[in-house]
Amino acid sequence: MHEFIFKDNELYCEKIKVNDIAKSVPTPFYLYSYKTLTDHYDKLKAAFRAVDPLICFSVKSNSNIAILRALIKHGAGLDIVSGGELYRAKLAGANPKKVVYAGVGKKREEIEDAIRFGILFFNVESEEELDEIEKAAARLKAKVNIAVRINPDVIPKTHHYIATGKGESKFGLDFETAHKIFNARWRYPHLNIRGVHIHIGSQILNAAPFIMAIKKVMEFLKECKIEVDHFNIGGGLGIVYSIENPQTAKSFAKSIVPLLKKSKLKIVLEPGRFISGNSGVLITKVLYTKRTPRKTFVIVDGGMSDLIRPSLYEAYHKIVPVEVGEDCSTTAEKVDVVGPICETGDFLGKDRYLPGMPKGSLVAIMGAGAYGFTMASNYNSRPRGSEVMVIGNKFYIIKKAEGYKDLVRGETIPKVLR
Ligand SMILES: *Cc1c(COP(=O)(O)O)cnc(C)c1O
Repeated sequence: MHEFIFKDNELYCEKIKVNDIAKSVPTPFYLYSYKTLTDHYDKLKAAFRAVDPLICFSVKSNSNIAILRALIKHGAGLDIVSGGELYRAKLAGANPKKVVYAGVGKKREEIEDAIRFGILFFNVESEEELDEIEKAAARLKAKVNIAVRINPDVIPKTHHYIATGKGESKFGLDFETAHKIFNARWRYPHLNIRGVHIHIGSQILNAAPFIMAIKKVMEFLKECKIEVDHFNIGGGLGIVYSIENPQTAKSFAKSIVPLLKKSKLKIVLEPGRFISGNSGVLITKVLYTKRTPRKTFVIVDGGMSDLIRPSLYEAYHKIVPVEVGEDCSTTAEKVDVVGPICETGDFLGKDRYLPGMPKGSLVAIMGAGAYGFTMASNYNSRPRGSEVMVIGNKFYIIKKAEGYKDLVRGETIPKVLR
């Protein structure tokens, strides 16, 4: 469910016509619905009520500080993966005791910043990282909480780029190494090693791989008699992009809550896409329609630099005209919707049926709220567009569009070349 709906053949975001927003905001731009965002958080919270989890929103899925603020005000914690995301968490007013920090390559300064901020947990991904955190904690005379990220070696059915819990992926530690760490807790006087963490992948549509991973971890804790008090089961809940039929938060919770309850551990969830995915769309404008003997291309002003998921993961995003003509079904034509970037891989959708799209008309790329703007780049020296949030019948620019000056910020020509 989301708040991008058609009324009288016109796309609305909550109570505002998208076309009206586009009158004052240049395309391409990202458009978010506050209500959709917070509704998804609330849904997950309600589904898991029986274990009263800490829900840490995955900042990398959508890191705009207004988005973070909205969720924080709703009670969410944050899951961060870099010093930059920590910086955003602070700006958004996150409660440090609700911040968890994962990632295989945390740098010394990033670790120190996070310790100073007083985060809840580091999700540790290697023994060397653990040594580094121990040293940093000693330097800062702090006692630091650690969860060991375990790679449970399960294979969720998803794109191989976003499967993170397979044995051969770079994430987490195998059970044996994890065991070794728990047995050697005495080596880390400044650390409380008291949590386990898994995150097995993204866009996972059913509970089976989660159940398998959770069971494996619980067996491990039992067999090795390891005492912990937190179990972070990661994110990865899939959403509807096209014809997927993902479990609802409710059915997902129903199948794993009994297991989690049995563990008697404090549960942490790290959803990203589930909360932000369908709460954002990319609005882009038709520049040209080009008919070739083989294909018809609708060329729009947003491309892979704005939304890379189709190019990177062959991800499907629904594409809809913002104003639907009277009877589009009879006039629909099969087209590729492509961006202006000089790459064959620059497309937003292939073989889509769209009505004739006149120059200047708008299309919405749906389900772009997660891994959309956060993965945007300046490739082809294209300034990134703005981000806009709708709350009820008002809209707010939550990030200004970049200009050409932003593109060259920090660049200099050495004197010898002048
Ligand atoms: C990316 C990531 C998430 C969020 O994944 P989603 O599929 O967006 O829910 C959660 N935890 C960690 C450690 C991640 O890297």
